[in-house]
Amino acid sequence: MTELLSVDGALDAILARAQRLESENVPIAWAAGRVLAADARAAVDLPPFASSAMDGFALRAGDTPGTLPVVERVAAGRPASRALSAGEAMAIATGAVVPGGADAVIPLEYVVERDNTIDVGERVRAGAHVRPRGGDVRAGETVVADGTRLGPAQVGAAAAAGVAVVRCTRRPRVAVVTTGTELRSPGEPLGPGQIYEANASILAAALQSAGADVVTVSAVADDAGLHREALARALEQDLVVTSGGVSVGPHDLVRSVERELGVEEIFWRVAVKPGKPLSFGVRGRTLVFGLPGNPVSALVCFEVFVRTAVRALQGERDPRPRYVAGDLAAAIRRNAERDEFVRARTTLTDGRVVLEPVSGQESHMIARAAAADALVLAPRGEGELASGTTVRFLPLA
Ligand code: AMP
Ligand code: MG
Repeated sequence: MTELLSVDGALDAILARAQRLESENVPIAWAAGRVLAADARAAVDLPPFASSAMDGFALRAGDTPGTLPVVERVAAGRPASRALSAGEAMAIATGAVVPGGADAVIPLEYVVERDNTIDVGERVRAGAHVRPRGGDVRAGETVVADGTRLGPAQVGAAAAAGVAVVRCTRRPRVAVVTTGTELRSPGEPLGPGQIYEANASILAAALQSAGADVVTVSAVADDAGLHREALARALEQDLVVTSGGVSVGPHDLVRSVERELGVEEIFWRVAVKPGKPLSFGVRGRTLVFGLPGNPVSALVCFEVFVRTAVRALQGERDPRPRYVAGDLAAAIRRNAERDEFVRARTTLTDGRVVLEPVSGQESHMIARAAAADALVLAPRGEGELASGTTVRFLPLA
């Protein structure tokens, strides 16, 4: 038997073929979840002017300690009518422009105010409680870098820096095709030998969370003609994800029909558990993933392989699986031939992530997997990973 392709080997093969898609302009209000296709550069200095960090009084540090008349009161968005002269103070609100001539702000609670004068009992440091213009970012500088997926902080930073429109990679368009004569939609009655379709739900949810646009979801029975029809249409998209029908049984038709339709198979079968029958191919620029039918296998293959491809199509800077570290709460026996992804539940104990494998690790047990929020990587090898071992895991969204 030839050795199976490793997980990293499969990821390399995928990333070699997943090219960034075209980009488009997106208003910042709509850009959360998208990936930047160019640096977003600040339109203005941020802050745009020297502003007060506190509610208090603007003054000249050199005039302190001392008693100063309050000559004006300035609020956010309402700058002073004139510059501050020596020996004067102006009441100022957080975020208001520090008037010309002032070089410091003393907070309200440090002064005694009466009859429009303040007594400043201490020496104030020049620059105290003043946010300098451009102290966060300067006009023209990168505020969020090319290849970054925009979350709340990133859209906030761009907006604060006056960026109204960002250049983003367009969302990958994806077709999902599930296969299996036995499948029925939830809500329909089950006949003999039938089961409810789960993978369409898994894949649609996962694809959306990865920033893809799921344009069609179709379900086909194990019939070559029906496969041909559904796959021919699916292949018009950027990415095709099928489920089922990639094993070695007589009803496993996905790979042969794809070959007929001009898909070049890049690999079939990976040293991963669950998910060994995974297939990957290309037709033109379209990437084609064949996921095994067991729902947990589909989930794992998505998280490890398909999510990586969806990120790469969007030009995300580091598209590979993002492992984090945690400690096992129970021993895991390793598989000699395949890297295994064990479903586990995380808890935080003394600031450490502790991973408790869920009971029921078979690849059809999607209900058991629903109790998990982590996929623990148990690298292939002999023996077991003892309880307490620090391991890597993928958080499940
Ligand atoms: P297959 O990969 O087609 O041999 O399917 C493997 C197992 O997964 C079989 O027990 C199928 O009934 C089951 N299965 C296949 N597709 C789905 C699906 N979309 N939802 C739930 N179970 C499925
Ligand atoms: Mg099947």
